[in-house]
Order: sequence, then structure tokens, then C-alpha cells
Amino acid sequence: LFLIVCMFVFSRLADLMEQHQEELATIESIDSGAVYTLALKTHIGMSVQTFRYFAGWCDKIQGCTIPINQARPNRNLTFTKKEPIGVCAIVIPWNYPLMMLAWKTAACLAAGNTVVLKPAQVTPLTALKFAELTALAKFPKGVVNILPGSGSLVGQRLSDHPDVRKLGFTGSTEIGKQIMKSCAVSNVKKVSLELGGKSPLIIFNDCDLDKAVRMGMSSVFFNKGENCIAAGRLFIEESIHDTFVERVVNEIKKMKIGDPLDRSTDHGPQNHKAHLDKLVEYCEKGVKERANLVFGGKQVNRPGFFFEPTVFTDVQDHMYIAIEESFGPIMIISKFSNGLRANATEYGLASGVFTRDISKALYVSEKLQAGTVFINTYNKTDVAAPFGGFKQSGFGKDLGQEALNEYLKIKCVTVEY
Ligand code: NAP
Ligand code: MG
Repeated sequence: LFLIVCMFVFSRLADLMEQHQEELATIESIDSGAVYTLALKTHIGMSVQTFRYFAGWCDKIQGCTIPINQARPNRNLTFTKKEPIGVCAIVIPWNYPLMMLAWKTAACLAAGNTVVLKPAQVTPLTALKFAELTALAKFPKGVVNILPGSGSLVGQRLSDHPDVRKLGFTGSTEIGKQIMKSCAVSNVKKVSLELGGKSPLIIFNDCDLDKAVRMGMSSVFFNKGENCIAAGRLFIEESIHDTFVERVVNEIKKMKIGDPLDRSTDHGPQNHKAHLDKLVEYCEKGVKERANLVFGGKQVNRPGFFFEPTVFTDVQDHMYIAIEESFGPIMIISKFSNGLRANATEYGLASGVFTRDISKALYVSEKLQAGTVFINTYNKTDVAAPFGGFKQSGFGKDLGQEALNEYLKIKCVTVEY
């Protein structure tokens, strides 16, 4: 009965979020600068889907029986049980404020835990609205706790806290390392880290070029580049390189930059001032290192934190912009003829390949050191598909069945009869 009640409360929360989707999208758009249409479809839409998906897992968390001690007669029964961890803390960034909350919180609650979540200081509003909706959905008091505040104070306290047994984090690699250390020193709490990325996107000359241009654009400019799986570096095969660049630049010129609440806007303002300043500096470094700035590269000449969709070509492996993540609308292009260095990065979050040759695509996907590989598509995350990085992009998965294990502990029971 308890599990059925859990499912019911979860579904009621998803319904309430859907009923409030326009209000949530408006708040998210104002708070994060995401264009309203995208906020409605992705930021809020996928958050609702995430709660619906994990509602279905509440009563399906199960262990297994394991044959042990093969000697006959076997008088053993060994089985595993999956148990909730207890009090879990979650710390999230500002790029998809509600969606990052949903990805982690839904799995955490479906696994039977309670949660204390710290949203990013610059984008706490939808998390607070969410808290209100959990009360309306009749989550028991104390199960969902939203605790806004700074990372150095609230986030640090949660990592250090002796009663917290699990910390789920999404954010930068730099802070992820600090959190891992604090979790170890305090009480060896379980930790999962979704960190930065510099995802390679490889476009071969035998691709569907129209689609590669369209998806290449969204791989970089989606949510004004504030997207953890944004393609951080595009490798374009030499024979189509110039055409690809020309077509991308033509498309950028058609993009409507402006008020995110205007339904016809394609490209909204960056999340906050410090981030905008970082992007200006990033492009200055690119120019200084003699990458070829083909388009954009500066703040848009209008009030607000708008940054021009930008394209750099002739980017070499050693350059700052080839190595570091921008987290902004900046396309970094390197040409290749034979052999490329898509794995020459410390990150391993996502990757992409465009080619009509499926054997080549599968071969490359096997070689890519990344937690996600998109073939002839990009940004296609789904609530049922596990998401998370390799290397310094962290470890642990959000979404899909795998996400539950991040918030469960496995008990092994052996009976001799
Ligand atoms: P960040 O600086 O690492 O901050 C993330 C969160 O950690 C914020 O809530 C922040 O609080 C908090 N924090 C800061 N110091 C802390 C500490 N000592 N202890 C505990 N928490 C602390 O990241 P960001 O600059 O906000 O976000 C951009 C980064 O996130 C990018 O690198 C991007 O790749 C990554 N990201 C990754 C994914 C993914 O799924 N892999 C998704 C989205 C973003 P404040 O509110 O004080 O900043
Ligand atoms: Mg930060």
C-alpha cells in the first residue's frame, strides 16, 4: 500500500507541475534567460516527464537471488535487497534550474529517500515553486527540503554534514573535486558527480549535410550554449568544411536575438553577468591565440546579457578554446582530413558523429571516450536513457533505471536452512 501511495503522490506532483507549466516556464525564463518556448518544452516539459517516469519505478525496486556455495546439498539462500540511503543532499547549477532538480530529485525520492536540495544562487525561483507544488501533492512534511543559499556556505555544509549519507552534484569539475573531498573526509558519503564537458562532434563528408548543419547549430546554440552536453568542439572533414561554415554563418544571421518572453525569439540572454563576462574573455583568448574568428565574439549592443552566437575556425589542439569549456554560444571548429583527436580532452560527457556509413559510425562510437554518443542526431536526451560522463566529466548516472542505483544501497542476505 505504501508503494502505491508513493506512486500516486508522484503522479499527482507531475500533474500539478503540468497544470502550472506556463507559470513555471515564465519564472524559468525570467530567472535563467531561457527563451520561453524552450523553457516550456524542455526545462519544464522534461521535468514533468521525469517525475512521471520515476513514478513508475516506485514499486519496482527489487533485488535478486544468487546461487552461492555450489557444494551439494546446498542449504543456502542468498538474496539482495535494495534499500534507501536515508537523507540525501543535491546541489545543482543554473543552466536548467528545474530540470536539473527533477533529474536528481525524482530518482532520489522514487528510491525512498528524503532530500535537501540547494539550487544555484542565481536561479532559485522554480525550485521554490516546486517546493510549493510538493506540499500541494501531499508529500509528507520533511521529505522534500529546498535550501537556497551560496555554495560556499550551504553547499559546503551539506557536503560536510554527518547525517547526510549521499550527495548528488551537477556543476563544474572544479567544485566537484572539492565536494568529493569533503564527502570523503566528513563521513565517506556516497557521491555522484555530473561535471563539465567539452564534447566532440565529428562530421564526415558522407553525412546528410542539411541535417548536420541543423543539428550542429543546435549542438552549440541550444539554450544559448548553457548546456552541459553542448558540442565543445566540432571536427569537420576537410572537403565539406568551408560549405559547412558558410551555411552555419548564414543560419546565425537569421536568428532572432531578444526578449526571452517573446514567443518568436530564438536566442535569449546569458544566465548572469559574471558568465557573460567570462564568454567575452574566452573569445578574446581565442583571438589572441590566432584562432580564426569568423562570426560574433562579443556582447550584443543592446541592454541585457546578450552574447552573439560565435564561430571560430582553424582551432588547434593546444589552444585554450580547444581545451576549456565555454558554456556559451561559441562554435569551435577544427578541420580534419585523416585522423582526428576527439578524445584529446580530459572531459568525457557526450559526443556525436554524422555519417551515412553506419559501420563507420559504430566504429567511431566504440572509440569515443564519452558517456553519451549521438549518431546522426544531437541533444536527444530522454528520461529513460542513462546520462552521465566519463573521465573528469564525473561518474554516476542521472535518468533511466541506472539513476535509481545512485540513491540505493544493496544489502546481501544469506540464510542457511
Ligand atoms: P559550479 O560553480 O560548480 O556550481 C554548481 C553548484 O555548486 C552551485 O549550486 C554552487 O553554488 C555550488 N557550489 C559552489 N561551491 C560549492 C562548495 N564548495 N560546496 C558545495 N557546493 C558548492 O557550476 P556552475 O558554474 O554553476 O555551472 C556551470 C558548470 O556546470 C559547467 O562546468 C557545466 O558543464 C556544469 N554542468 C554539468 C552538467 C552535467 O549534467 N554534467 C549539467 C549542467 C551544468 P552557488 O549557487 O553559490 O554558485
Ligand atoms: Mg560557479
